[in-house]
Amino acid sequence: MPYRIDDSIISNFLTTHTRPIRLSSLPQDPSSQHCPICHLPYAPQDPSYVHPLHPPDTPEYPVQVRCRGPCKHVFGRICIERHMRGGQPWSHTCPICRAEWFPAPNAGRREVLAATEIALDALARIDAADVEVRAEVERVEEALRRIREVLYGSRWI
Ligand SMILES: [Zn+2]
Ligand SMILES: [Zn+2]
Repeated sequence: MPYRIDDSIISNFLTTHTRPIRLSSLPQDPSSQHCPICHLPYAPQDPSYVHPLHPPDTPEYPVQVRCRGPCKHVFGRICIERHMRGGQPWSHTCPICRAEWFPAPNAGRREVLAATEIALDALARIDAADVEVRAEVERVEEALRRIREVLYGSRWI
């Protein structure tokens, strides 16, 4: 699974960048009283509870994302962990606002980078006589080079 996020990153995120939130501090409208992932109501939870070392039968309680980015969304504790363990290209992002909670896993980045290099190599071998075709190929090459720059850039490390 190229997008699998390391256990250490997941448990660090849950410990450092989410915090349990009291049901009474959630907005009182019915949609805020439900987990937006599973749509089930939250169970009350002891605020002194230390996660993520909870027993597997712990009822779903709300946690709020607290990272440097813009996302402050609230999810069920079990559902947010399941979301991050999903091994999808979006598993490191918020399911609601799509903000990145942390950089994409390295394995996923390496896979995209490898595919970008293959595409650039293939384009370099195209020997187009047609001026319009050549211009198209150059545009695609330019887009791929920008993708490569982003993948090598500090944002993804
Ligand atoms: Zn849920
Ligand atoms: Zn969010």
